[in-house]
Amino acid sequence: MIVEDEPALAAVMKDYLVAAGMEADVLTEGGTAVETILETRPDLVILDIMLPGKDGLAICREVRAVSDVPIILETAKVEEIDRLLGLELGADDYICKPFSPRELVARVKAILRRLDRQGASATAAEAADDAIVLDPDRWLATLGGRSLDLTRREFDLLYVLYKRPGRVFSRAQLLELAFPDDTDVFDRTIDSHIKNIRHKIRALDPDRASIRSVYGVGYAFDR
Ligand code: CA
Repeated sequence: MIVEDEPALAAVMKDYLVAAGMEADVLTEGGTAVETILETRPDLVILDIMLPGKDGLAICREVRAVSDVPIILETAKVEEIDRLLGLELGADDYICKPFSPRELVARVKAILRRLDRQGASATAAEAADDAIVLDPDRWLATLGGRSLDLTRREFDLLYVLYKRPGRVFSRAQLLELAFPDDTDVFDRTIDSHIKNIRHKIRALDPDRASIRSVYGVGYAFDR
């Protein structure tokens, strides 16, 4: 998905991506970009910063809050990249205008290759038919293909643990990582969310112990 308000530039980018064997859609304004990206779920987003409707920084933040889709931000000046990095927007790469379309295609391919490798190892672990699988694009958690019916907060919490199986997180770390913007979530809330998640997992698989309590420390997820 190309979000770029200069039609000529967008057309060149699209041509090069298509010539490299990819499909590309173009959005020329920012106002509907977040909805369109979340609905159409592209494999990658190339996002201009200066856009009519809504700027690329806001779009990047809003998409990143709910999706891991790779994002390449186009900037107008190279000095801006440092400032953007400081904003922790969660973009995967930055490309400075004017850029060569070849360079762009190379960056896109590099990101997609990296994701393919990660996906391949995750798929191996998820191939088991009783696997717990979390899809952040759809906020969908399944056990053996059946939905766990997690609330949004339960999903966010489990997703932090799930992304790093085996690693122990303290309640404070879980609060910070799963609910960075919520001031009404406390340590005790973590315990009650964990209790609910375990209950939902056991409802589908009574013998399943996926979230391990580490006494005095916190919790870990075991595949
Ligand atoms: Ca622009």
